[in-house]
Amino acid sequence: MKVVVLGAGLIGVASAYYLWRDGHDVEVIEQHAEPATVTSYANACLVSASRALPWPTPTAHKTIWRALTDSSAPMRVTKFFDPALWRWGREFLSYANQRDYERLTKEKLSFAKFCQDELEDTLAQTGVDCGYKRDGLLYVCRSETTMTAARARAALVGEHGFEVRVLSRDEVLTLEPSLAPSTVVGGTLAVTDAQGDSRAFTRALAVWLTTQVERPVRFSYGETVNAKLLQRGRTFQLNTPSRELKGDAFVVALGPQTQHFARMLGVQIPIYPVKGFSITVPVKEASLAPQRGGICEDSLIAYCPLQSPSGLVMRITTGAIFSGQDNGFTDADFGAHRKHFEALFPGALDWSSSEIEHWACQRPMTPSSLPIIQRDTRFDNIYWNCGQGHIGWTMSCGSGRVIAHLVAGRQPSFSLDNMQQL
Ligand SMILES: Cc1cc2nc3c(=O)[nH]c(=O)nc-3n(C[C@H](O)[C@H](O)[C@H](O)COP(=O)(O)OP(=O)(O)OC[C@H]3O[C@@H](n4cnc5c(N)ncnc54)[C@H](O)[C@@H]3O)c2cc1C
Repeated sequence: MKVVVLGAGLIGVASAYYLWRDGHDVEVIEQHAEPATVTSYANACLVSASRALPWPTPTAHKTIWRALTDSSAPMRVTKFFDPALWRWGREFLSYANQRDYERLTKEKLSFAKFCQDELEDTLAQTGVDCGYKRDGLLYVCRSETTMTAARARAALVGEHGFEVRVLSRDEVLTLEPSLAPSTVVGGTLAVTDAQGDSRAFTRALAVWLTTQVERPVRFSYGETVNAKLLQRGRTFQLNTPSRELKGDAFVVALGPQTQHFARMLGVQIPIYPVKGFSITVPVKEASLAPQRGGICEDSLIAYCPLQSPSGLVMRITTGAIFSGQDNGFTDADFGAHRKHFEALFPGALDWSSSEIEHWACQRPMTPSSLPIIQRDTRFDNIYWNCGQGHIGWTMSCGSGRVIAHLVAGRQPSFSLDNMQQL
C-alpha cells in the first residue's frame, strides 16, 4: 500500500517506521525543512512512563481555579474567551472524578509502559543513537507537602507495576550529590524511567528510513498540506501548494496543528494546544550539575542533561499555558527556569552564554489525556495519530506501532477501547 504520513514530528516519524516495517511504500510530508521542528524540537527529553498520569483528577477544579487566578502558577489560562477551550474544558471536567481518574490512570500507565518497550525495541532494531539511558528519573521534593503527594503517587503507580522508590534526603544526595546545596527534603526514583534526546531520535530515525535500500521512505519537506471536501463532503482531496497527494491511506500526525487540519475535513478533533517553555543552557561546571533527568515536584520544572555537538547542555522546561494558537515567548517566560534550577543546582550552568536556546511549543492535549489513535469514522482511509499531549516522546513508538496495526487491518497489540475517541 502507498501510505502518506502527514507531519514529521516524533509521532509522524515513528508511524513511518512501523508502516515501513509492515512493507508499505511510505511518504512523509512536512511543512518545515526538517523533522522535529515544532513540539518535538525541544521537550524535556524524559521517557517518564511512570508519570503518564491523566490531567483530569478529582481535584482538578482547584488547579483550574489557580490557573485562572494566579499569574505565577505553572498552569495558566491566558485566553479565557475561546470557544474551543470551553468545549475542551467541559469534556475535561466530565472526567475529573474518582471513577474516571482510576480508569484513565490504568489505561495511560499501561499504554506508556507498552510504548517504552516499543521505543527500546526501535532503538535496538535501528541502532539510532539519541543518548537513550534507562537509569531511572529522580523526582525531587523541597517540602513535606510535595513529599506526601510523592509517596501517594509512588504507591499509586506501584499498583500498576512501576517500581518507584521513596527516598530520604540522604538517599537523594547519594544518587545526586550535586543536590547537596539545595533544600531538598527527599524524593522518588522511578527505576525504569529513562531519558534521551527526542529531537536527535526523530531526525536520526528519519535519516535511517530514507537510507534503507529496500523501499526507502521518502520525506518531502517544505510542503504544507491542506484538505478540501468534495462531493458534498463524501470524499476529500489533500493538496500541498505544488501537487495533489495520492495514497491508499493517510496517517495524520500533525501534533497541536491536527485540529486546524481536521476542521478542513469537517472533523472535530478534541485537542487543545497547551504551551510550555523550554530553555537549553550550556553546563559550566559538570560536578555541580545533575547526572540524570528529573522533575522538581514543588516548582514543576523538568530538567535533563544532554550531549550536544558543543558539549554538555541542560534542557529545562516548565509551564502549561492555555493560550490558544499563540506560540510566542518573551524573556520573562524563562525566569522560573533559572530561579528554580539554581535553587537545586547552584552554579552548574553558564547563564551568560550566547549559546542558550529558548523555545516554546505546545502539547497536543486531549480532554482525557489519552491519545487519539484511530481510523476516521467517516473517511475510511484517514487514520488519526495525535493527542499524545505531555508525554508524546514516551508514547511515540507505541503509537506508531498501533497505527500500523490499524492501517494493516490487524487487531492492535494494545487495546484501544479506552483511548480518547473522536
Ligand atoms: C515543554 C514541553 C515538554 C515536554 N516534555 C516531554 C517529555 O519530557 N517527555 C515526553 O514524553 N513528552 C514531552 N512533551 C510532549 C512531546 O514533546 C509531544 O507530545 C510530542 O512532541 C508531540 O509530537 P507530534 O509529532 O505529535 O507533534 P509535532 O512535533 O508538533 O509534529 C507535528 C508536525 O506536523 C507538521 N505540520 C503541522 N501542520 C502541517 C501541515 N498542514 N502540513 C505539513 N506539516 C504540518 C509540523 O510542522 C510538525 O513538524 C513535552 C511537551 C512540551 C510542550
